[in-house]
Amino acid sequence: MNVGSIIPAELGDAALAYAALGVKVFRVRRNKTPYANCARCDKQSSLYVKHRPEECRCGVPTCHGFWAATTDASLIRKWWTEEPDANIGAPCKQNGWAVIDIDPRNGGDKSFRALEVRVGVLPGTVMQLTGGGGLHMPYLSPGYDLPGEPFPGIDFKHNGYILLAPSVHASGGRYRWAGDGLFRTPATPWPDTLLPRKERRPVPAQRPAPRHRFPSVANSAQRPGGGKLWTVDDLVQQVMDSHEGGRNRSFYFAACRAHELAAQGLIDLRDAEDGLLSAAGAVGLTDSEARASFDSAATRPSDKGWVA
Ligand SMILES: [Zn+2]
Ligand SMILES: [Zn+2]
Repeated sequence: MNVGSIIPAELGDAALAYAALGVKVFRVRRNKTPYANCARCDKQSSLYVKHRPEECRCGVPTCHGFWAATTDASLIRKWWTEEPDANIGAPCKQNGWAVIDIDPRNGGDKSFRALEVRVGVLPGTVMQLTGGGGLHMPYLSPGYDLPGEPFPGIDFKHNGYILLAPSVHASGGRYRWAGDGLFRTPATPWPDTLLPRKERRPVPAQRPAPRHRFPSVANSAQRPGGGKLWTVDDLVQQVMDSHEGGRNRSFYFAACRAHELAAQGLIDLRDAEDGLLSAAGAVGLTDSEARASFDSAATRPSDKGWVA
């Protein structure tokens, strides 16, 4: 990790400091209302010409919100001379970042603990305290789209932006970098365990695996119609990959499959129960909901036509 840079206390000076370090910034009003686009870029205007913000060539330096972000010192000086109190926004993806945004007011701290129980402790990275009790963990962008709000109170910010220290939070507190207060460019890759499953890097073959991960006959089973094998991990993964609207259904499906496989002696029911309940916590189901669903799956009538 690099030595870190002092970020000045004045917002305009701070914006210039970030830009000098290669971070693209734009100004954000305290009340978050955006700056107006020019008429050609304003969808409400009769002069509007259809185009994608990222392809805009209008040259008006505030158009399209965070697409206006820049490292141009003279423009940044002009913006903060006009509005010395403007907050400092930094678009995540354009800066090569993806940020875990934890908001404890919406249960983000609880979700985060459940997430780490499931996927293991996340790799260390720079951290920013939001001034409102929240926490930002910026990583290097994985180059893939990430789900917007994967867990209650946790946001994966990639297409959006974050405010940078010393911006002022709605609660009146200031954003600041954790620890010594110095800014360090995020340098830790986005955690592999939080990638959409299809984008994950393959696990090296020589890595030792826990007993129940071996796809042996004793603890796994044939997937319907395929040569692959069902394991407890597959069932857990299915719950982790479910999106918000489908969590209950995914969990119930995985629970049904776990009971079926266990009844055939192909997996250990206790392993499956432990794994599925911790996955349920990580995706925001309450423990009692998950237990009730797991138990009701045991009494579901056998359905041989059930397909994943
Ligand atoms: Zn424009
Ligand atoms: Zn435009």
